[in-house]
Amino acid sequence: MTRIMHEKIESIYKQVIARNPGESEFHQAVKEVLDTLGPVLVKHPEYAEQKIIERICEPERQIIFRVPWVDDKNEVQINRGFRVQFNSALGPYKGGLRFHESVYLGIIKFLGFEQIFKNALTGLPIGGGKGGSDFDPKGKSDHEIMRFCQSFMTELHRHIGEYTDVPAGDIGVGGREIGYLFGQYKRLTNRYESGVLTGKGLCYGGSKVRTEATGYGAVFFVDEMLKTRKESFEGKTCVVSGSGNVAIYTIEKIHELGGRVVALSDSGGVIYHEKGIDLELVQQLKEVERRRIKDYCAYHKDAVYREKGNIWEIPCQVAMPSATQNELNGKDAQILVKNGLLAIGEGANMPTTPEGVKVFIDSGILYGPGKAANAGGVATSALEMQQNASRDSWNFEYTEERLRNIMKNIHTDVMTAADEYGSPGNYVTGANIAGFKKVANAMLAMGII
Ligand code: GLU
Repeated sequence: MTRIMHEKIESIYKQVIARNPGESEFHQAVKEVLDTLGPVLVKHPEYAEQKIIERICEPERQIIFRVPWVDDKNEVQINRGFRVQFNSALGPYKGGLRFHESVYLGIIKFLGFEQIFKNALTGLPIGGGKGGSDFDPKGKSDHEIMRFCQSFMTELHRHIGEYTDVPAGDIGVGGREIGYLFGQYKRLTNRYESGVLTGKGLCYGGSKVRTEATGYGAVFFVDEMLKTRKESFEGKTCVVSGSGNVAIYTIEKIHELGGRVVALSDSGGVIYHEKGIDLELVQQLKEVERRRIKDYCAYHKDAVYREKGNIWEIPCQVAMPSATQNELNGKDAQILVKNGLLAIGEGANMPTTPEGVKVFIDSGILYGPGKAANAGGVATSALEMQQNASRDSWNFEYTEERLRNIMKNIHTDVMTAADEYGSPGNYVTGANIAGFKKVANAMLAMGII
């Protein structure tokens, strides 16, 4: 039975590759989930009979559109916009927008696919989707960003809505961009529909803790993992890759819990500061002045900048990859394990390559995959939607407490699913199965849709 199920899964995977040629990141994300679902199909043959996996792998809708805009030199620029509405079994499509030069359909589809299971794990009523553009925000003026966002929304607005699809931020899309997007949506529709976007500013319907949520949530998740080994962040040396929103609030929470973050990075290089990263300075450089982390060393003579350096060579007990997909490979994983790694929590989506994941799982360290570990961001987006729907606004402490409980529950659900399906302690299997079952059961209940 198990062998037949494995063969079935293998053939579904081959179909996915054939139907979606050239989308390597999407193939990778699908394979990683499908590889863990064998035991679920054995226990629930109805999922196979109803072709639940095949249906989940096919997005419900994919929208690709032209985004024309005029730059500061009065030249016309053309980018490509995407929104993949992947699965709405549990609620309106929900997921961020990524503005980055690397964006193409395969990246948006991998992110949208991951989002289905991540969102299910939060236990909140949100489906999965993702969008974005190959627009490169680096070096663009504020006015160019605004014009781009307005043009992007001029097309996107007909496809989204509070009950349909609720975008938010991701790489390259933060509070500033969400503001421009919301303003344009409001203007085009003549509706103050707060719940159509999340990650809004606090002065017009945003939620407290949303900015901090992905980073804080990832640290809460790792804290839960550490507790299973009677450990904590107290006194631990930590490394956090990236220097965007996720990395910044990961560092803040680790420091609050008594850990010491000694390194961070951006696409140019790595900062190593043995004394511990000066977060206030990073925030000033990145969030206020939008500069590169290289400039950190001008303010701290004892910090070192390694251009194009490899952050994973820095010995640490806790590693939190918080930059982008496939930023940590098999060799990096081996180095980390050799240097005494205890736990890893993924703040980014799919930051570890399949070879790296294998090293972590085989080594028996605590490995929290992104779907579970970084679900705090989207979970707090769902809390923002709750506040918008009830025209309410919660305080910071209450919202953070809700986030903490959600991360705790995700940890418990993931552990329980891993135990139940014969892979105790394997957070990858647990997260995939727990997320998949929630979506699959809703789809079964709704018939062939
Ligand atoms: N981009 C985030 C993620 O990867 C958040 C999405 C959201 O809040 O909708 O989960």
